[in-house]
Amino acid sequence: MPLHIPLDNSYARLPARFFAPCQPTVVARPGLVRVNAPLAELLGIDPAALATEEGVAVLAGNRLPDGAEPIALAYAGHQFGHFVPQLGDGRAILMGEVVARDGKRRDLQWKGSGRTPFSRGGDGRAALGPVLREYVVSEAMHVLGVPTTRALAAVTTGESVMREGPLPGAILLRVASSHLRVGTFQYFASRGDAEAVKTLADYAIARHYPAAAETSQPYRALLEGVIERQAALVAGWVSLGFIHGVMNTDNTSISGETIDYGPCAFIDAFRPQAVFSAIDRNGRYAYGNQPHMAAWNLARLAETLLPLLGESEGEAIAVAHGLLENFGGQFESAHLEVMSSKLGLATAAEGDRELIHSLMGHMAEASADFTLTFRTLAGAVEDEAPFREVLSAAPRIGEWLDRWRARLAVEPIATAERVAGMRAVNPLYIARNHQVEAVIQAGLRGDFGPFATLNEVLARPFDEQPGMERFALAPKSEERVLQTFCGT
Ligand code: AMP
Ligand code: MG
Repeated sequence: MPLHIPLDNSYARLPARFFAPCQPTVVARPGLVRVNAPLAELLGIDPAALATEEGVAVLAGNRLPDGAEPIALAYAGHQFGHFVPQLGDGRAILMGEVVARDGKRRDLQWKGSGRTPFSRGGDGRAALGPVLREYVVSEAMHVLGVPTTRALAAVTTGESVMREGPLPGAILLRVASSHLRVGTFQYFASRGDAEAVKTLADYAIARHYPAAAETSQPYRALLEGVIERQAALVAGWVSLGFIHGVMNTDNTSISGETIDYGPCAFIDAFRPQAVFSAIDRNGRYAYGNQPHMAAWNLARLAETLLPLLGESEGEAIAVAHGLLENFGGQFESAHLEVMSSKLGLATAAEGDRELIHSLMGHMAEASADFTLTFRTLAGAVEDEAPFREVLSAAPRIGEWLDRWRARLAVEPIATAERVAGMRAVNPLYIARNHQVEAVIQAGLRGDFGPFATLNEVLARPFDEQPGMERFALAPKSEERVLQTFCGT
């Protein structure tokens, strides 16, 4: 069957100043690394056709599918607190959009497909390592239930990219609910282009917050919606020990998805102020700072929307403040809900928040493995030994277990049901840094077997998988990854 991608583009219909038309650069020898078959099916694309020579040529950007209108999107952004009025898609090109089988519109984007008018000094390329990393981690996040961009396919280019030395080049076909960012609003607001901000807001409402259009104040409802989704998103990250690493406003999605997997990492040995990113020298995006930084990013979004939020500047500022103030409470309640379920609590009771914080305190004291703490806590309903082993360096963990048991006793749930419920929210397998690193090293040697295996294990993160026990282990001290790097 010839490849058919049912493209139906809307962003390319926006005013010309929203993007720059451009073509992916033809690469030397496209080679398929992996096609995400279930995602292809969801998008109405035949996965087998993607794996043909024609399909791989499309994935590499060597051939345009019918209906493609390649464009690089304009955006700005605060990077580590400093405003850059023009960033834009410098190493990514939007192929177009597809209305998937679930009725939702999604972007298909090449990442690493060559220079665009927004590339500035960069080469527009991606190295194999960051492509494999984004593929594994974004797909793992998706199955863990956290909103995220996804990976449709990865291909090698047969060319080298120059970083500290030459590295094999690769391209990721990324799928997103959209690529609208806080930085997209900032791009127009900082140019004083109020008309474009309004056009963009209307587009964002139609695409992501259609209910807002039915209210008397659609732009307030838009801001409210983005705040709500970011609060839920960051609560999801925090509940899994995930550190995004580059929460710049250009990496903050309006749809509420995790976007741009650069120096991201899942914590192993727990530290509330853990930082992995080599470029985050001041810990701006440390694990525990993520809610604050999301709130900061949302304030930047609110600033761009001010002319749409009220009749006068004073009214608009008051409205923005009122909505931004909700973030803290929304994050706290989303966090409490998800953490309560991780502790096996079905209802809310006074003291739950403290019980959760107290466990995190013991974890920090013991440098306990984040993922194994919660997974063994599920087992502790019946057998405490593995949990006590993980928390062995927390001398008072027994007292905490007593309090937890007393709290569980308030809810008469059958043990088997409770254990199963806890195992369904506390993953056994996550994209551990050392395993992602091992997969990348194998990939650099041309062996994509470990990459395939890791993807398959992470596709069922909550199920014990016989023979795959090694993927559940915390890194040995010599395996620990202490720093992660951007894809640039
Ligand atoms: P990031 O923080 O990785 O999301 O990237 C920030 C900005 O740098 C975006 O505008 C990217 O398009 C741009 N960028 C990153 N890497 C490259 C590259 N290799 N070539 C061109 N632009 C790049
Ligand atoms: Mg980015």
